[in-house]
Amino acid sequence: MPEKVVRIASPYQFAFFVAVPFFLFGAPFSLKLDSCLIAQELPGEGGRPEVVLTDAARILHESVLLIDGHNDLPWEFRERGTPSFDTLDISKPALELNTDIERLRRGGVKAQFWSVYVPVSTRLNGEALLQTLEQIDFVHAMVKRYPDTFSFCRSTSEIELAIKEGKIASMIGVEGGHSIENSLTVLEKLYDLGARYMTLTHSATLDWADASTDEGKHGGLTEFGEQVVVRMNELGMLVDLSHVSDETMRDALRVTKAPVIFSHSSARAICDHPRNVPDDILPIVKANRGVIMVNFYSGFVVPEAGERNRLLQTETTAWKQAGDNESVVKSKTTAWRKTHPLARGSIHDVVDHIDHLVKMIGVDHVGIGSDFDGVDSLPHQLEDVSKYPLITQELLNRGYTEASIQKIMGENVMRVFREAEAVAKKLSTQQK
Ligand SMILES: [Zn+2]
Repeated sequence: MPEKVVRIASPYQFAFFVAVPFFLFGAPFSLKLDSCLIAQELPGEGGRPEVVLTDAARILHESVLLIDGHNDLPWEFRERGTPSFDTLDISKPALELNTDIERLRRGGVKAQFWSVYVPVSTRLNGEALLQTLEQIDFVHAMVKRYPDTFSFCRSTSEIELAIKEGKIASMIGVEGGHSIENSLTVLEKLYDLGARYMTLTHSATLDWADASTDEGKHGGLTEFGEQVVVRMNELGMLVDLSHVSDETMRDALRVTKAPVIFSHSSARAICDHPRNVPDDILPIVKANRGVIMVNFYSGFVVPEAGERNRLLQTETTAWKQAGDNESVVKSKTTAWRKTHPLARGSIHDVVDHIDHLVKMIGVDHVGIGSDFDGVDSLPHQLEDVSKYPLITQELLNRGYTEASIQKIMGENVMRVFREAEAVAKKLSTQQK
């Protein structure tokens, strides 16, 4: 997550969830009115034509190793009170979510990093680790519940095997260093439970790392923060630099011995938001052999939306400085959003980010990190997990070769994961 404030509904979802209950029950339903606000802003975003899927793109997409860096389905379930898979069965169409099995298959998803995000506020009541463990349990339970669809994977060789067996390789990403509660031992335990990346921070600056959307306290990473990165290298856990401040990016890139990922971040030159990667960091990512997995959230991809989010950030900081607590800030944010709706943008905006990164540092350092089920607004033609083939189509339309598309869709992040495993192996041999 959660870059979330209000939830968006597609026109179809709108018809289903609003019109149908009204027709059946004739009474107001617990409708999220915010949805209407954004849903009205629909297509033609940017005035660019819709992307139309051709057979050539469909066939190519079936062959790509699509690995998405960030999906928040576990958090979406938690927000709904963690219903059982009996009441919210993702083997059936679950149109209130961005993700279900049938749409994952249509989207050609071969492997997914499932985020086990818990809010940074959990560090204040001592529940960060506990709730993270519950989210990890959720992913394991999901794989167990749908064994014909998912296969839990701890390594690149397990990912390859899962894909060969026709399963969706399922990995865990921990979103935010608050989950380790300032302990390297906890970090190791999370690795043992299957976590294969950790985003160093979420939205708040920690005792050991500055976040991109909070005041910096350390000028990047503290000494302990550097130890966290080194320990992750030794374990073979990917260092994820989404959400961290520019200084933390620089420090982590200086310290790490393995290539890093940005599991769900886009290009700041296109959409000027601190969650995106600035141009001056890009050559360092290239030198590190890392990969930036482009986020689909409207607020990070549409240029005007970035501006609006920065405005909100200024307001939020002022509310906090005036002494508003977390729940007051949350309700003020919701009210602010209603009067300042986000522009959704379209698939073209997302591909603009891919294009920019490729032009800056080449095709070997770009990937896909949707943020599905963690955001409240998604671009036209990228509303859910079934839509990835349209990215392949638009890349073909823009003249990308099949080999380049294969890399962007997943080969790049597989290479990074493989290299991180090799670094871990090398470091453990050196220690012996
Ligand atoms: Zn996030």
